[in-house]
Amino acid sequence: METTKCLIIGSGPAGYTAAIYASRADLKPIVYQGMEPGGQLTTTTEVDNFPGYPEGIDGPKMMEDMQKQAERFGADIRWGMVSEIDTTKRPFKIKIDDGTELLAETVIIATGATAKYLGLESEEKFKGGGVSACATCDGFFYKGKDVAVVGGGDTAAEEATYLANMCRKVYLIHRRDQLRASKAMQNKVLSTPNIEVLWNHEVKEIVGVEQGFTKALNGAVLVNNKTGEEKKIDIDGFFLAIGHKPNTDLFVGKLDMDETGYLITKPDSTATNVPGIFAAGDVQDKHYRQAVTAAGTGAMAAIEAERFLG
Ligand code: NDP
Repeated sequence: METTKCLIIGSGPAGYTAAIYASRADLKPIVYQGMEPGGQLTTTTEVDNFPGYPEGIDGPKMMEDMQKQAERFGADIRWGMVSEIDTTKRPFKIKIDDGTELLAETVIIATGATAKYLGLESEEKFKGGGVSACATCDGFFYKGKDVAVVGGGDTAAEEATYLANMCRKVYLIHRRDQLRASKAMQNKVLSTPNIEVLWNHEVKEIVGVEQGFTKALNGAVLVNNKTGEEKKIDIDGFFLAIGHKPNTDLFVGKLDMDETGYLITKPDSTATNVPGIFAAGDVQDKHYRQAVTAAGTGAMAAIEAERFLG
């Protein structure tokens, strides 16, 4: 059976950065890219906040470059999904969905998280045409315009206040009459003059124009779930902030996770509760979720794997 010193699961900024560091440390890492090679950034357009790109860079292009950089140092990057992992003994036995089996002395989990969407057909239609799940990534494109954020948690509150700094008006659409966000974030939202909270509202449909391959939303139809009343708001951007789901189904019952499924790592470390298994990026981070922080923890994981192997 094939063996490796370091198996990396996932190919976002965390996985590729771990691959760059691990290959430079001569661990000859094998990377399985997973369902979405390149990760969440391949679904965004311009990335303007990753240091080193003064003019910004396309998300997919940045991920392609990270892959090439890892390959330059010898990382073995493969298409495929890990379907099973035995965490009970080292080396860890890993199964891939094509039937391949490997033994890994260390494992770096960088499987990321997936933003939750409402599940509307019209939402799917306008992805890339005004619908986004990341205000920090895409907010800039809506400078001076009107936008909406859906959700009532800390992310929604944070994204609404972030957008309020650059947009003309921000609607915060929440399905209840009370925000779930921390008191401090609630106060910030409620005291920002250009944020209007639409309490007890749900989104029925996103509307816009489609011309060939170009599509742009220009509004949303909302329903008041107390009165049943419908209303339309005019907006150019629609931001989902209804939570993320960490991609950890594979590790349930095998690695420690919090109540929402995020892997738990030791303080100031990427080590999980199983010696030799490390976690980097969004799969263990529900607070920052930035490409640069994911890359940072990817580097940490590779350095820790190298030290673990001694
Ligand atoms: P949360 O799960 O905390 O909040 C999700 C919000 O979306 C809730 O208000 C929920 O409504 C709403 N929602 C969920 N599903 C739907 C749906 N289908 N339709 C409409 N609304 C929906 O997620 P967050 O991403 O906000 O936060 C995740 C974690 O990260 C939390 O622990 C949070 O505290 C933390 N965090 C901390 C930050 C900070 O400290 N600076 C910043 C960002 C996040 P309802 O309230 O009715 O359930």
